[in-house]
Amino acid sequence: MTAPRIGVIGGGQLARMMQPAAINLGIHLRVLAQSPTDSAAQVIPDTVLGAHDDLAALKAFAAECDIVTFDHEHVPTEYLVELQEMGVQVRPGPHALQYAQDKLDMRAKLSQAGIPCPEWAEITSDADLDRFSAIVGYPLVLKTARGGYDGKGVWVVDDRDEALRVIKEIVASNTRVLAEELVPFTRELAAQVARSPQGQCVAYPVVQSLQTNGICHEVISPAPNLSDERATSAQEIAIKIAAALDVTGMLAVELFDTGERIVVNELAMRPHNSGHWSMDGAVTSQFENHLRAIADWPLGSPAAKAPLSIMVNLLGGDLGDLHLAFRHVMARDPQIKVHLYGKDVRPGRKIGHVNLIGSNIDDLKERAWHAANYLTGVIDE
Ligand code: ADP
Repeated sequence: MTAPRIGVIGGGQLARMMQPAAINLGIHLRVLAQSPTDSAAQVIPDTVLGAHDDLAALKAFAAECDIVTFDHEHVPTEYLVELQEMGVQVRPGPHALQYAQDKLDMRAKLSQAGIPCPEWAEITSDADLDRFSAIVGYPLVLKTARGGYDGKGVWVVDDRDEALRVIKEIVASNTRVLAEELVPFTRELAAQVARSPQGQCVAYPVVQSLQTNGICHEVISPAPNLSDERATSAQEIAIKIAAALDVTGMLAVELFDTGERIVVNELAMRPHNSGHWSMDGAVTSQFENHLRAIADWPLGSPAAKAPLSIMVNLLGGDLGDLHLAFRHVMARDPQIKVHLYGKDVRPGRKIGHVNLIGSNIDDLKERAWHAANYLTGVIDE
């Protein structure tokens, strides 16, 4: 057996973190990146420069790959079909990826598959809005069907006038409008699975993720105070979605937990921020299982290595060079694992994360947050 040549489209930190797993599996990883300074381009020698929305660049890149996968969801679906027609394995395939690219398509598909979702509707007229608001009331949530990330493209509107203003703005950006009930959730969860083309599927422990202003700050695995029954049902939802949509590779299902029910927020078909804890906290990291899944190899165990894992994101702050703070953090807590993405520091930008495993939640939170805050310059002692 020869290992496949795997090409990743997009040079962000997710592609970067596939590289250590690829090295250990003996897989030759290539990346299509925008610039040689991209996070993944810095660590993958076989970097090709080009844009993810340039068909000629995609074709030239894919011609040298057996399997193509992704760092992000933004490659136009019709281009991926063309790559498939060249004989390249695209994983996940465009028939699956479309549901991670378009939130309206996703809502329609999941509802049809009997997956619990918030109340939703497509809004194409004032009458649609009035019909929907009569059901769910204000405030309600409006979203762009395509192109949103980290909370951009999501608005909570308090009344009809504000809704109409936002709808006009979304329509002007040339995408369809999705309306949802404002789910009174008490926390956000994520269920991750890896699925191979043969249909083998493994489920990671269900995690709790803390988002502030639409950006993930902290993930705890497994989610504290989640009953076994509810955890299993979240895993079953993720497995059912992976099978119904024929996802290959990692699938992250973001969920809202209201205390009474869990409903699906959105999907990501690639390694995801909610699974970074697995690099140090699981037998097989999400990056390794993504590669094993798209190569159609047997999957690794997703089991946790400790009772609890925590991940805290490093968001760009006052310190330009995180290495300045390294000695203190490393010396204070030799069990902390720091992962940096090689990205320039800009306020609020994800530039790395810290992982810690253990058994006491308060202790883990204190230590992981101290390290993250010290590294980003929020505190200096
Ligand atoms: P993005 O694609 O930008 O990550 P999401 O659809 O995940 O956008 O929404 C970002 C955040 O907005 C969510 O993490 C959640 O806090 C809030 N949100 C989104 N949809 C709803 C909803 N229907 N009800 C309540 N809050 C929501």
